[in-house]
Amino acid sequence: MRHPDPKRGRPFRGAQGNADPLTRCQYLPPMLSITFLGTSAATPTIERNVAGVAVQRKGETLLFDCGEGNQRQMMRYGVGFAFREIFFSHYHADHFLGVTGLLRTMGLQDRTLPVTLYGPKGAQRILGAAINLGIERNKFPVEIVEVKPGDRLARDEYEIEVFETEHRADTVGYALVEHIRLGRFNPDKALELGIPEGPFWGQLHKGQMVTLPDGRIVGPADLVGPPRPGRRLVYSGDTRPHLSVVEASRGADLLVHEATFGGDEMERARETGHSTAAEAARVALDAGVRRLVLTHISSRYNRDAAELLAEARAVFPETVIARDGMTVEVPYVDGD
Ligand SMILES: [Zn+2]
Ligand SMILES: [Zn+2]
Repeated sequence: MRHPDPKRGRPFRGAQGNADPLTRCQYLPPMLSITFLGTSAATPTIERNVAGVAVQRKGETLLFDCGEGNQRQMMRYGVGFAFREIFFSHYHADHFLGVTGLLRTMGLQDRTLPVTLYGPKGAQRILGAAINLGIERNKFPVEIVEVKPGDRLARDEYEIEVFETEHRADTVGYALVEHIRLGRFNPDKALELGIPEGPFWGQLHKGQMVTLPDGRIVGPADLVGPPRPGRRLVYSGDTRPHLSVVEASRGADLLVHEATFGGDEMERARETGHSTAAEAARVALDAGVRRLVLTHISSRYNRDAAELLAEARAVFPETVIARDGMTVEVPYVDGD
């Protein structure tokens, strides 16, 4: 019996593989997405749960608001409980009551990792009461941190900016702002200059000078493009349209803004500290965002939010209405 020659019949496979820029450059851009756990205003409906979103970035999960029933939404939509932080916009019941049950469930699952809860003025009193409700004790450390507009919470690759909102209560919004990225590395140019693939590429990409095996000293000047902006994702919480939201959303890749009412309920929106769909769209337009997602939808538009969508798109065409379980990817503006 003859042994099959593994190379026979596909003599060019290896050569083609080496020539393929995708195999040379293994870089994958970090994923950033947002999943809507609840999109209803004030009360849950059959179709929509109350407020909550999960932002996922490079395997990390951040929750923003946690209305009643959000833990089941997390299970349903595959979000998982491996998060470390929840950011609350304010303490109306539809935005925070879910934290009690969620933390209890995590305790029953033998959670040991700490959780930090962030919220505006009143955090210690209100979130403290919520997590200590009942007779069980939390089995893992829970820290509560009060934040205020202007705070910036530093993380390795991004910041969480806290900004002012206007909602007849102590409220804030949050923006996830990625750090500026390295410029684009040009692998073709590197090979052209005879710089072997490997650690030299990484060092040059980071802006360092390197000494090649042949003694040449090269720098990043011709090989790395200008620094590129990171992504900006903004969560308004409940608010009237407000200049601070426009400023926090300036150039954002994605703005998630509440749109509780349609234009025929403008007066009610003013009285209750909410926005109409067209007002939210105006914020997106003024801020020059790339895309707008409307959430916190009044039960009146529970099944059919076409009217809200039409009103918003007349002002800002790149608008969608969130629904429970919807995930929106946030790609880089330049693709990678
Ligand atoms: Zn609300
Ligand atoms: Zn509210």
